Amino acid sequence: MPGSWLGMLGGGQLGRMFCFSAQSMGYRVAVLDPEITCPASGVADRYLCAEYHDREALAEMASLCAAVSTEFENVPADSLDWLARTTCVSPSAQCVAIAQDRIAEKRWIAQAGVPVTPHIVIESSVVLQTISNAVLAAVLPGILKTARFGYDGKRQISVCNLDELRAAHIALGSVACVLERRLLFAYEVSTVVARGVDRTTVLFPVTQNIHSDRILLQTISPAPIADSALIERVRSAALSIAAKLDYVGVLCVEFFVLQDGSLVANEIAPRPHNSGHYTIDACVSNQFEQQVFAMSGMPLGCPRQHSPAVMLNLLGDVWFVNKRLCVPPWHKVAAIPGAHLHLYAKEEARAGRKMGHLTLTAPTLQEAWLSARDCARLLHILLE
Ligand code: ADP
Ligand code: MG
Repeated sequence: MPGSWLGMLGGGQLGRMFCFSAQSMGYRVAVLDPEITCPASGVADRYLCAEYHDREALAEMASLCAAVSTEFENVPADSLDWLARTTCVSPSAQCVAIAQDRIAEKRWIAQAGVPVTPHIVIESSVVLQTISNAVLAAVLPGILKTARFGYDGKRQISVCNLDELRAAHIALGSVACVLERRLLFAYEVSTVVARGVDRTTVLFPVTQNIHSDRILLQTISPAPIADSALIERVRSAALSIAAKLDYVGVLCVEFFVLQDGSLVANEIAPRPHNSGHYTIDACVSNQFEQQVFAMSGMPLGCPRQHSPAVMLNLLGDVWFVNKRLCVPPWHKVAAIPGAHLHLYAKEEARAGRKMGHLTLTAPTLQEAWLSARDCARLLHILLE
């Protein structure tokens, strides 16, 4: 109940935005993150500076908090299991372990009856010594991705032939990988699902996501897709995956829509997602509030979108003009109607680093998009 403590593993921007939502409802939040300057450290009611496997810090969190969740999928599943002995933990260690590993993730998604990108598993370099041309032909040209610890397009290398594949595997440290066929998709979409302890489920609208250099650049919500049957297929695929995992918490499912209209699940995230940030300014209950509701056993909030929205990610690049560090013209951005600025309090702006986001809401999607275009011009963001 509001008034009690909630625990968050991870103090990045997702943890910071979780704190805002939980605290506004009267909860107190304990955040555990090894990085003292993390975005949530200055916002949490209690900040535990420790590694994710630190038993002393975990014990403190367990004794303080009525429920614990995570904002970072690479927390050791063991830590979640250990916390679950004495406190409510969602999502479960098993669900997080699946989402941490692209090999298990694809297997579970396929078992839920949802197609995944054609791929092969490369557990070790031995596989590359014996691989047949026929097997390779089905997945080349492709993208080699490490099974674990990738994010924002990191730890992925495009490859066109066996020589490049071998070199890429070495460059990635010869760890377990998946090689996925590079799909020529028509566009990318995602949806965020919230599922309660009683398995009641709500879905946010399906959004269209535009990436640049494999990092999310723009989310358009609702996705401007006239085909309502396609939207329904996306929703039902996301629900099937959540049900198959017996998921509790907030889950995002990313999809590719191919040229022929078929749907392929790309990956899942066991937490609120960058493509759901627009929900803060555009939906009745946002994805972080849903995380609070789901983990604490409260009824889920209403996911209805009340304003069309376009979200732009603010990467560190925005802080550099002609390679010189500058304060972006926030006063001009603020003058644009419907502009909602969110900055994550990261100390150092670096190219490609997520520093914040900007959501433009408007009475129509067209107007939101025009405002987004104006903001992008002011901030030198290249919209594709
Ligand atoms: P991350 O975990 O870093 O988000 P993703 O697997 O989602 O990694 O890849 C990031 C982006 O790269 C995707 O959103 C998509 O734009 C592009 N991408 C990834 N895999 C493929 C693929 N098999 N074919 C085409 N584009 C891809
Ligand atoms: Mg992704």
